[in-house]
Amino acid sequence: MPFLSNCHTHSTYCDGKNPLREMIHAAENLGFVSLGFSGHGMMHFETGYSMSPAAQSAYFHELRSIQQEQGRLRIWAGLELDALAGEEQLKQSIASADYVLGSTHYVLPTPEGEYVAVDGPAQLLKEHMEKHFAGDGLAMAKEYYQVETDFLLHYRPDVIGHFDLIRKNAAIAGLFDENDPAYRKIALDALERAFPCGSILEVNTGGMGRGYLSTPYPTFELLCAWREMGGEVTLSSDCHDFNLLTYAFDETLALIRKAGFDHVMRLGSGEKLWEACVPA
Ligand SMILES: [Zn+2]
Ligand SMILES: [Zn+2]
Repeated sequence: MPFLSNCHTHSTYCDGKNPLREMIHAAENLGFVSLGFSGHGMMHFETGYSMSPAAQSAYFHELRSIQQEQGRLRIWAGLELDALAGEEQLKQSIASADYVLGSTHYVLPTPEGEYVAVDGPAQLLKEHMEKHFAGDGLAMAKEYYQVETDFLLHYRPDVIGHFDLIRKNAAIAGLFDENDPAYRKIALDALERAFPCGSILEVNTGGMGRGYLSTPYPTFELLCAWREMGGEVTLSSDCHDFNLLTYAFDETLALIRKAGFDHVMRLGSGEKLWEACVPA
């Protein structure tokens, strides 16, 4: 059974390149059985990419009307919610979505209230590490995973988005070496702490599709650890461009199998949110 689905998909409502219907058309051409949109949910501070409350309500309005049409594939109206989006924003967003991805894009704000994204410009991240962590990138990684695991355990999202996103700029901003045993222990401890949230762990090829990384989020080591803990996984392209909707899916499915998983969860093709898929 081919995987033929994606639960992490952006559109022009946030920072994606394609309108909803263009993305759906691309998914239909690939023979998808389901497609989930996960627009960046509203936040209490300005990010430049997340939806405003008005945009978010228009997003759901359009998605709900698309869901009424007799389409060839099941469409799900989800959101990608940031750990620091704000309590009220998170509550409202969770209530309006079919499912949510819980993602952590920031470390804690500076005393001046400035938010620094771990996947934003590497130079800003480097300055933040120097100024607020006395140059200790591992201390910053610890804070990142603390923010993430607190959020996951509190909100229990359906999916954990790009668990180790902090790897994206780690080399270029000089934060840490991702092969350093000290870093690996921080990430592994965080994954173990997050496990009771019960969420499905996303194996995300977005950093590969955009040329930042040669491997998915999370690392193979974390994937193997998740398997040993008994966790479930899904596969996604964190798609912002319909040409990359199934980017590196075949090789990543092979990696998931190599980690010991005999099935991958995908968004349902019928009424059930998730179904187990045994990829061919
Ligand atoms: Zn994200
Ligand atoms: Zn995303």
